[in-house]
Amino acid sequence: MKRFLFIRCKYFTVLAFVGCCLTFMFSSSGNDEKLYRNRIASLTRMVSDMQSLLSRTGLSAVVGMEVVIETTAKIDFLLVATEFDSLDYRDSYIAPNIRAAIGKENCVIESETSGADIQVVDLYRNMDIASAQSGHWMDKAINWTWDSESFKQRKLEVIMMPHSHNDPGWLKTFEQYFEQDTNGILNNIVNFLEQKETRKFSWAEISFFSMWWERANDNQRARMKALVASGRVEFITAGWVMEDEANTYLYAMVDQMIEGNHFIKDHLGAKAKSAWSIDPFGQSSTVAYLRKRMGFSNMVIQRTHYLVKKYLASKKNLEFSWRQNWDPRGDNDMFTHMMTFSSYCTLDQCGPDKPTCCQFDFARMASGQTWGCQGNKPVVVTPYNVAERSAKLVDQFKKKSTIYRSNVILVAVGQDFSFRTVGEARHVFENNEMIMDFVNSHPEFNTHIKWGTLSDYFELAHSRLRPSDIPHLSGDFFTYSDRNDDYWSGYFTSRAFFKKLDRILESRLRSAEIIFSMANMFVQSDNNAVANLWEGLATELMGKLTVARRHLGLFQHHDGITGTSRDPVVIDYGKKLFQALAFASEVITQSGQYLLLSGDPLYVSKHAPKTLEAFVIDESRTAPESIEGIHFVPMKNTKAGKMKEVVFYNSLGFQRQQIVSVLVDSPNVEVQCHKGFNVHAQIAPKWMAETSSWTIELDPNLYELWFTINTKPLSLTRYFIVARKKPARKATSISTLYAMNVVKEVGEKFPASGFQIENTEPKEFKLSNYHYILSFGENGLLKSIKDRNTERVINVGLSFAAYHVNRGGAYLFYPGGPPKPLPSLAPPVVVEKGHLFSRVTVMFDNVMHSIRIMNSPGLDGYSIAVSNLVDLRKTSNRELTMRIDATDLMKMDDGEVKKTFYTDLNGFQMQARHYHSQLPLQASFYPMPSQMIINGVKGSARVTLHSAQSAGAGITPEGFIDIMLDRRLMQDDGRGVQQGVKDNKLTPNDFWLVPEFFDNSLGTARDASDYAIKPTVMSQQANLALNNPLIALLPADDSKQVNEGHSGKVPSPGGFQGQAKSYLPCDVHLLNLRTMNLEEKEALLILHRLGHSCRVASSGNLVPTNCSLNNGIIDLTNVTKDLFKFTEYSLNGIHNLSEAHQKTIQINPFEINTYLMQLDKK
Ligand SMILES: [Zn+2]
Repeated sequence: MKRFLFIRCKYFTVLAFVGCCLTFMFSSSGNDEKLYRNRIASLTRMVSDMQSLLSRTGLSAVVGMEVVIETTAKIDFLLVATEFDSLDYRDSYIAPNIRAAIGKENCVIESETSGADIQVVDLYRNMDIASAQSGHWMDKAINWTWDSESFKQRKLEVIMMPHSHNDPGWLKTFEQYFEQDTNGILNNIVNFLEQKETRKFSWAEISFFSMWWERANDNQRARMKALVASGRVEFITAGWVMEDEANTYLYAMVDQMIEGNHFIKDHLGAKAKSAWSIDPFGQSSTVAYLRKRMGFSNMVIQRTHYLVKKYLASKKNLEFSWRQNWDPRGDNDMFTHMMTFSSYCTLDQCGPDKPTCCQFDFARMASGQTWGCQGNKPVVVTPYNVAERSAKLVDQFKKKSTIYRSNVILVAVGQDFSFRTVGEARHVFENNEMIMDFVNSHPEFNTHIKWGTLSDYFELAHSRLRPSDIPHLSGDFFTYSDRNDDYWSGYFTSRAFFKKLDRILESRLRSAEIIFSMANMFVQSDNNAVANLWEGLATELMGKLTVARRHLGLFQHHDGITGTSRDPVVIDYGKKLFQALAFASEVITQSGQYLLLSGDPLYVSKHAPKTLEAFVIDESRTAPESIEGIHFVPMKNTKAGKMKEVVFYNSLGFQRQQIVSVLVDSPNVEVQCHKGFNVHAQIAPKWMAETSSWTIELDPNLYELWFTINTKPLSLTRYFIVARKKPARKATSISTLYAMNVVKEVGEKFPASGFQIENTEPKEFKLSNYHYILSFGENGLLKSIKDRNTERVINVGLSFAAYHVNRGGAYLFYPGGPPKPLPSLAPPVVVEKGHLFSRVTVMFDNVMHSIRIMNSPGLDGYSIAVSNLVDLRKTSNRELTMRIDATDLMKMDDGEVKKTFYTDLNGFQMQARHYHSQLPLQASFYPMPSQMIINGVKGSARVTLHSAQSAGAGITPEGFIDIMLDRRLMQDDGRGVQQGVKDNKLTPNDFWLVPEFFDNSLGTARDASDYAIKPTVMSQQANLALNNPLIALLPADDSKQVNEGHSGKVPSPGGFQGQAKSYLPCDVHLLNLRTMNLEEKEALLILHRLGHSCRVASSGNLVPTNCSLNNGIIDLTNVTKDLFKFTEYSLNGIHNLSEAHQKTIQINPFEINTYLMQLDKK
């Protein structure tokens, strides 16, 4: 029996009602007078109706209120726009109902398609799985015969490229791998390369390299440096890790590249120019863009669908120019080499005949490894067999060359943790060198073989290729399959808890970087005493930032964020993420209080020399696996009239008017802005999910205090929570609660919760705010959204279901059949209503689901917040999905559902996703790092689900969209990790659902194609707001309270308002402001102009964030003080693109521009 526990307090019944009325009146002083007059009139009527009802029935006040509440439940609840504090609210608020097409000057509409020769989506749609002769790509369809004449005309060039694939965490932790494997590998490389000048090596993972470097002595470092300087050791990609490409989000992808690329530049003067991404499970076009933008000219990819690979091979299209779907001019085209065959290992890379290649996998002579070779052992090369051995290997090389166009082939030599032992290195180098010497001295082979690095290969290949030989390809390579019906769509969701934690850390670290850099800028104009204090602290904080960057970077590894490591490795990653979160938080609180207090004698005198610790971040954790913040604002024992300061940090480049919440221990509070005006607030219960019995409980000690705030871009804004003797119902209302299917218990457990909770029969109900009316079923689940402005309705049904599977593991998903709906006959439903926000909470087996709608003029007013708390710990072989039925929107004229939706690639661009009826269902599941769009086929409406964590999203035969929430698998899936996924945690996921209603005349249908779609500006901003939440700084403890002693009198400064004289354009996102050199005060300013619709800004407001589009033109001196100068760099901050100092810049749509910001010492 599911139960809902609460107490009922009649005293509060009355107060709740009275408070509600007064709040209504209070709110009526808002800006839209006519609206308010109407509402007050209707309120007055309502009150008088109720009064007459009461007097007629003669019921007691309490009973009467219950009747009234019943009445209000049937009408749309409370339509109160909120009055905001004095921070320019009236100036900034753009009245609703403005439909704005974006002016041409702000958005050059390029052609609808990229103009590529190949769209990968089309290859999937035309895939003929039934006629594939084997479940493997090496199909008989490819003709491997070679023509000796052609080699006589043009010699075959073979670059053999020794490499070692080192995973920074998988079966062992990062540190264990280093100690047991990688340290020795790097030592071997130095020793073996020094033995012979022709030997070369290519290395990718800088996390490992940096560890080796830190430990190496001067002699080892000098030797390595010499090998790098002579080009014999080449760093390829040189990211901190080889990142996953499905679950990763733009911020961390860029950051881990900056960290790795700068490490080799700073310590070895090296710059990477070729990229190497051979193990991620599917490949993203965003990665191609980022590499290009970082100055790379060539890249290698490997894991793509076996039938895609087969098709490209049959057309000699394994080398192509990768073009972004949004870039028809091809400014960002990237030359890409797709490896042949199934894996990057030696046995797959020498040629098409695996048993033959096994004989040349000399590393196995030392290791005795037999995996993949079924009795085909390596054969030692001797003077007696070298002729025969050479002929056999050259035959494989020539066969391989038939599927490339240049007569140059790349043969990668190595696999996971290769060259671990001296014996292995010796076998590999010496046996191959015997063959090389023989072949190169026998002209009849018409073949030249040498050791080379990745760049050696590309240089040679380009010398043989004409630009016209290179096809253009657009799209991405999801979803990956390596054989049969094995699709790697499970890892999009595996270890969902840590995918969520990663996203929280990304936002926290970004916020820390920006505020730290702002403090460093600000100190330039500060007095010396304060500046000196800050300098000392800044060095310590910079060290912590570096640790946080590297821990976040490490987790981007393709066995980290993917959730495909062994349990102890997952725990190790969790500890690192937790530490990084704590460090980033400390940087924020310390930098924040410096910015708030600089110039205040308090900062220098009272709290010198080091830390003041006035603040804590509300979302602070006690352990890697805890999910809740532990901090609240203590008000219970605060004297009436006294106040506590709360500061909100907005790290985004636009103004945010938003409803926020902090925890308090007393409901008797008001909230004031810094000018002393009350702001609207609402007291709501804090729910605790007791997932062992799946009941909802009220926290007996804490309350959620929700209130409206207004923060400028890049600012810290003060608000004050004021203690009152009794409920302060003028500005602060209390949620009214209704419960269905709940067993009421008047108990001892919650002696003073103070909430009126009304039990009602299960029924359909509605919740509304300024923009929408949401309709819910009896089971508490969303059914439809009505736009108040146009009166139009979108049917969007949410439900929950579970795939009951018996196969699949960390990597692979086998749905087997349709999912089973979670039992939803009579789930407990609690509805909270209030004047700032309303919320529904529903309890199913395995998930507590809630939907929140806000009365806010900001982005959160246009977004419907969806949160789920998932617990699969007691299940087996379950994959839980939140199902979205928006098929009404997807119906074409003939009544058929168009089974297409869109998901983002790395938070950077949108990619079309189709249901593939000829492939198994698991092929139609895709990565969804941050956003999913269902576009109305007629172009008049759209639903976007913004996501605050990466997950898989699929489309079913019916056209339903399944958003995967977590998965628990009891078995291994044969891809090496050798365990199931059984370490599930209590896992939160958060989404914003944004409905948009378009005017057909705006031509929005043209924004969507079979390949891509462009979101609106407002929707893009909502995505940023969800993924970069405002950070609440709460008082650390009473004794250190910054503004202690202020009683009722509000201090004058409103906070720190940043340096921005004007805001960034609406579509330009401050991706990072990353301090690179503390002493020199150098920072990288990274600006991303979002790709968005050129036809419509949004359904209602242009954007509710007081910004404007400026065609991507920015005056950089407005962003910071005039003390700084800017020069343009590549995205990794390595290549200087222009000597000239930039002042006014322009960023093209979709592009990311980077500037080095330095003190102008003129
Ligand atoms: Zn790997």
